[in-house]
Amino acid sequence: MTTRRKFLQLSALTSALGVLLPSSAKASTKSNSPIVVSTWEHGLPANAAAWNVLSSGGLAIDAVEAGVRIPEADPEVRTVGYGGYPDSEGNVTLDACIMDENMNCGSVAYLQGIKHPISVARRVMDKTPHVMLVGEGAKAFALQQGFIEENLLTAEAKTDWKNWLKTRKVQQINIENHDTIGMLALDKKGNLSGACTTSGAAYKLPGRVGDSPIIGSGLYVDNEVGAATATGMGELMMKTVGCHLVVELMRQGASPEEACKGAVERIALKLGDYKVFQVGFLALNKQGEYGAHCIQPGFNYAVHDGNGAQLIDGKSLLKGA
Ligand code: ASP
Repeated sequence: MTTRRKFLQLSALTSALGVLLPSSAKASTKSNSPIVVSTWEHGLPANAAAWNVLSSGGLAIDAVEAGVRIPEADPEVRTVGYGGYPDSEGNVTLDACIMDENMNCGSVAYLQGIKHPISVARRVMDKTPHVMLVGEGAKAFALQQGFIEENLLTAEAKTDWKNWLKTRKVQQINIENHDTIGMLALDKKGNLSGACTTSGAAYKLPGRVGDSPIIGSGLYVDNEVGAATATGMGELMMKTVGCHLVVELMRQGASPEEACKGAVERIALKLGDYKVFQVGFLALNKQGEYGAHCIQPGFNYAVHDGNGAQLIDGKSLLKGA
């Protein structure tokens, strides 16, 4: 039991350090209303699939997996799964990770020929003692688990790649070139989970892996506090372990939006070239509150809860031209 003396000592210490008490130490306002949030407009149909799971009492971990499988299978979504932009050699290489309320996580990176990397990541989490499998090992595991090998390079993506070959202009992820799906959900039991899946930066160097399959960079979940996911130039989130930072800022008392803003400001403080890139963070806390923040204007996110679906513009650090 926390005695009054111990509480006063703790308060004095935390205020001397300039930190707030962990949110779990505050009066609990735990809500049992499910909610799902995800990055970008393609989050709308993805959230609808996740909502089907959540609204019938399903688990957050099942909801996020079901949700992000929608853009993974959609050839019109050019930055996730089937139909995603290839690397500079014309190979579609996919990165994904998933994390549940018990700190269980699974991840795959540089996976080729498998349409649903998120479900392979889920199998890594559920069926192996490991967190991450990459490349040929990840593919062999997927095939052994019954996933089918498919050609993921659509005719449209191939044409775009062939056009790109004419200039070979290096593509950085800026305001018009991005779109990983990161999804966070809170279920009826009050548990949080998240998923993140992408084909990564268009025409990247062969072998490049971004933030999206890296626990702590592209996704992080702490069921006591909240969850965060990211999109944009993955190297910036990797250098700052961005999503872990967002969750830790929420632990110190920041709202989801304030925490995302704090992570964007950390990037601006530490990484001199941030102005030419886009990064967007999205967070959901244990109380079902959500928020986002990004470097450039133009990042939006989708929300689905008992009140229906909406698409919201994230606030940005820079104000644009
Ligand atoms: N974050 C992803 C990556 O760097 C790309 C994106 O969000 O569009 O691979």
